[in-house]
Amino acid sequence: AMAFASRSGRSWMEYKQSMDPDPQNLFIIRDFRRSGREGLRVMLQPQVELITGRVVGAEVLVRWRHPELGELSPAHFVPLLEQAGLVVTLTEFVLFEAVRLAADFRRQGMPTCLSVNISAVDLLETDLCAKVDWALASFGGDARDLRLEMTETSMISEPERVSMVIAQLASMGVTCSIDDFGMGYSSMSHLRQFAISEVKIDRSFVYDMLTQEAHHAIVSAVIALCHELKLTVVAEGPEDWQTVQALQGLNCDRAQGYVFSRPVEVSEFMALREQIFSFSPDQERA
Ligand code: C2E
Ligand code: MG
Ligand code: MG
Ligand code: MG
Repeated sequence: AMAFASRSGRSWMEYKQSMDPDPQNLFIIRDFRRSGREGLRVMLQPQVELITGRVVGAEVLVRWRHPELGELSPAHFVPLLEQAGLVVTLTEFVLFEAVRLAADFRRQGMPTCLSVNISAVDLLETDLCAKVDWALASFGGDARDLRLEMTETSMISEPERVSMVIAQLASMGVTCSIDDFGMGYSSMSHLRQFAISEVKIDRSFVYDMLTQEAHHAIVSAVIALCHELKLTVVAEGPEDWQTVQALQGLNCDRAQGYVFSRPVEVSEFMALREQIFSFSPDQERA
């Protein structure tokens, strides 16, 4: 039999193996390309300062309602958009929403630092600083109210370029944090190499730190190390008050987890923003 070879010179078998195993993903990409922006919106998940119990910030999390499939998880569709080269549109939408909201909050006398997730493509193939500048200028936003979250994976392919972007953002007054710390390379040198100001410890270490001794040790050591390096620490994903108390005992700066709130609509966030959490055990309730 004659061997099939694609234009790239791959065999038919190689071609099939390289295809997306879930054809639904191809429809998701197609539909985002057609009408993505229409179904996009953001939700806010509060970040609580552990010394005061105050909501001082929030992570801005994108939501997308697909015309037929309904609301899809960003953990599923963001990587697809990254592969398809479409994530830049999404980031621009979220960045502008964040700056617009932060400017509103500041005008209302409630300055709030909003964190936006940034993908590798945004860092490597676009002029992120120019976009940030443009967003801030468009809404009269304050650079102190914006923070950009990036994972180590997205930083290390071109560390020199990413270092420059982060340094330029810092010079504009915009801070950066390493997201999901502990999951990727978790290199100590990255904490010095990049002008970041914050580390977010991955939820997988936080949520069970009271039952998994090794996770408790990791959380404790990362907090101590970051503080030595003058970085603030956010614990991702505590789900109960005992864990919050343990984090407070370890001098963790802030926490963001279901124990305080799930990601909520902007109006609901405004109400939470006024609240002061106290971490006594009698707080525990549904
Ligand atoms: P992430 O950046 O690590 O965001 C935190 C995720 O953890 C959010 O999920 C949040 O709802 C969830 N989370 C927070 N606290 C808890 C908790 O106590 N328990 C549990 N089980 N989960 C908790 P979400 O909104 O589904 O987002 C998932 C991921 O999708 C994000 O992880 C991020 O990687 C990506 N993502 C979301 N929005 C954007 C965006 O605007 N741009 C980009 N590039 N990625 C985004
Ligand atoms: Mg994040
Ligand atoms: Mg994270
Ligand atoms: Mg995470």
